[in-house]
Amino acid sequence: MPFAIRIHRTGGPETMCWEELAVGDPAPGEARIRHHAVGLNYIDIYHRTGLYPLPLPSGLGLEAAGVVEALGAGVDGLRVGDRVAYAGGPVGAYSQVRRIAADRLLKLPEAIAFETGAAMMLQGLTAAYLLRRTYRVQAGDTVLIHAVAGGVGLIACQWAKALGATVIGTASTVAKADVARAHGCDHVIDYGRDNVAERVRALTGGEGVAVVYDGVGKDTFAGSLDSLRTCGMLVSFGNASGPVPPFDPLLLSQKGSLFLTRPTLMHYTAKRADLAALGADLFAVVASGLVKVEINQTYALSEVAAAHRDLEARKHTGSTILLP
Ligand code: NDP
Repeated sequence: MPFAIRIHRTGGPETMCWEELAVGDPAPGEARIRHHAVGLNYIDIYHRTGLYPLPLPSGLGLEAAGVVEALGAGVDGLRVGDRVAYAGGPVGAYSQVRRIAADRLLKLPEAIAFETGAAMMLQGLTAAYLLRRTYRVQAGDTVLIHAVAGGVGLIACQWAKALGATVIGTASTVAKADVARAHGCDHVIDYGRDNVAERVRALTGGEGVAVVYDGVGKDTFAGSLDSLRTCGMLVSFGNASGPVPPFDPLLLSQKGSLFLTRPTLMHYTAKRADLAALGADLFAVVASGLVKVEINQTYALSEVAAAHRDLEARKHTGSTILLP
């Protein structure tokens, strides 16, 4: 029988168990996938700790690449042996083999390796909707991307540069700032040391940025609002430092008729046509070399506890994969 990571209670990395799991044949509309590589994402930590509750016991993981092993009745457009990748629920990607709704799968182009596919799907589709849908980055915009050396951050940075934006990023160490600069980031702010809004004002001639992409949450929220130009948009899309506390919308008026949104990938890819369009955008920027997906950490899937500990300790840059 294949193995998978499961949790029976929420808590620390030690709650994740490597267990045998019966997978069975795909139901109508489903595919059974043998994973070649699995992606690690910050949301996996929110699921493990219970910040985003799951019914227990549960699998974990939202992203992988592999090969179609079997198809249920009524699946069009896929064949056994196809190379595929996916990002999104239901959880269960931390596994050697799984079943999943076939309409959540994208065919992986031959030019993209399984490892890259697993590393880029969730973070890359996120960068795609953030930059191309939530706020459409235009040539000449200045944008602020928090945790710019991270998984979403490094992809978003390169993509925003390709769209003609000036990118200001934040990072917690000199080494991470160097990684960001090597991927085109124009200015990197050490947000543990410097006042972000003051630095952004100085870098933009007092105007502020068109958009802030903030996946850090609690620690950066106030500074993000103060970094925006009049009518700018704060895209608060994550909680790596903890969830943002309750907030008074009047602040948006006082600080310049600002826009605030709290989006998730799930809604932007709920319709198959939207998933396919964002996927095509992502595959195009990766295949053309405009966006390089950096797999800077690799762990065995059975050793995923170490991967979670390192991600929470802010040791990672770029993307991380787990080998099943
Ligand atoms: P990252 O690789 O970016 O890792 C998180 C980064 O956050 C760290 O590397 C660290 O960078 C920074 N950070 C700041 N404060 C803390 C803290 N207290 N503890 C840990 N890390 C901290 O992760 P991902 O690319 O997987 O995800 C980035 C964010 O985007 C997450 O919040 C995630 O949940 C969110 N997300 C949201 C989606 C959506 O649709 N809403 C989809 C995908 C991701 P540094 O050391 O430089 O500060």
